[in-house]
Amino acid sequence: MSLTPLSEALERILATAVAHPEQEQVSLNAAIGRYCAEAVNASIAVPPADNSAMDGYAVASGDVPGTLTISQRAPAGSTPAPLAAGTAARIFTGAEIPTGADAVILQEDATLESDRVSLPAAQPGQHIRRRGDDIQPGDQLVAEGQRLRAQDIGLLASVGIDTISVFAPLNVAVLTTGDELREPGSGALASGQIYNSNRFSLTAQIRALGMTVVDGGNLPDDPEQIGDALERVAEAADCIVTAGGVSVGEEDHVRGQIEERGALDVWKLAIKPGKPLAFGQVCGTPIFGLPGNPVSAFVTFALVAKPWLIRRQGGVVVPSPRFPVKAGFALPRPGTREEFLRVTLSGAGEAMRAHLTGSQSSAVMTSLSEADGVAVIAPGTTVAEGDWLEVIPLSAL
Ligand code: AMP
Ligand code: MG
Repeated sequence: MSLTPLSEALERILATAVAHPEQEQVSLNAAIGRYCAEAVNASIAVPPADNSAMDGYAVASGDVPGTLTISQRAPAGSTPAPLAAGTAARIFTGAEIPTGADAVILQEDATLESDRVSLPAAQPGQHIRRRGDDIQPGDQLVAEGQRLRAQDIGLLASVGIDTISVFAPLNVAVLTTGDELREPGSGALASGQIYNSNRFSLTAQIRALGMTVVDGGNLPDDPEQIGDALERVAEAADCIVTAGGVSVGEEDHVRGQIEERGALDVWKLAIKPGKPLAFGQVCGTPIFGLPGNPVSAFVTFALVAKPWLIRRQGGVVVPSPRFPVKAGFALPRPGTREEFLRVTLSGAGEAMRAHLTGSQSSAVMTSLSEADGVAVIAPGTTVAEGDWLEVIPLSAL
């Protein structure tokens, strides 16, 4: 099988993701990272009334400059009386503007003279936040399929909403494979062993999407046990994500078991890291067989499995932003696959440079943990220092 370009593989894989219709109502405090099941519109204006943007004095702009009597005190949360003609109201940030006032003058610009205050000229409307400046009744606040971030949750709360309808979380089974793997916390490593890191990074990546992990544990490199476990989790999960065992070695049994117990639709992508990714189904349940090298598992999850999971759950897949940054390194030899290089960013504006974080081996996690982003290098391309690159921030992966 020849290598499939990422864009082509994504198109084929995403075409199989039919959205999940189930919804549930959650409190806003439990909504972070969840995907909205319906658009939400505002039923009130924000702010609900004209209010002061500053601490100072509310006046009729026609009465200033001049020295005015202070006729009332209007702190935030109070209901001010109409402004008596020719007077000023002492006012604080967030307090409603008394009717009759049309400007606020900063307290720093006022001079107090016992119960009177000397004020400079004011423009009508100055330092007043108008009713509905932020939100008008009927405005759409969030869209169906949108992922909820902290700022969206705050926006919903600002119109008095405390629960929201989101798509029900997918159940995603995670299985790792490898005789060499030992679980963190289970004691020191014996000869030949390493700790199972993919189980944790993949679980974290899935949880960050608001989805539920069905923990399938780690399996030995044994075809029967792997195949049986895949069939078992296929019943309980909407999707299976495995790590390891999809390459061409004699101990790589995951791909074989996908073929044996289901069907393999895509295998081997023209990307680096992550070439041996396999996609198919077992007992009708879609499966992403990710490569075992930790950076390959992380990157292929982010590039391929994540958009599928989002769409399947009902979310809208937003392409990761790519920012132009100049290379602070050279890549003299062109590759045959699309490459995702781990980079840190230094400097600002025109002087910003992307530097390789160190070893680009797919087994090296430190250079992923240190990275600010990945630079995307097209196949057949060389890079000279100062060339423009496209960098995807790691936070968007
Ligand atoms: P594989 O894809 O099974 O051939 O594994 C490729 C490399 O990744 C090997 O060096 C494995 O030891 C390592 N590896 C596989 N699975 C994991 C895992 N869950 N955690 C950490 N390293 C792994
Ligand atoms: Mg293995």
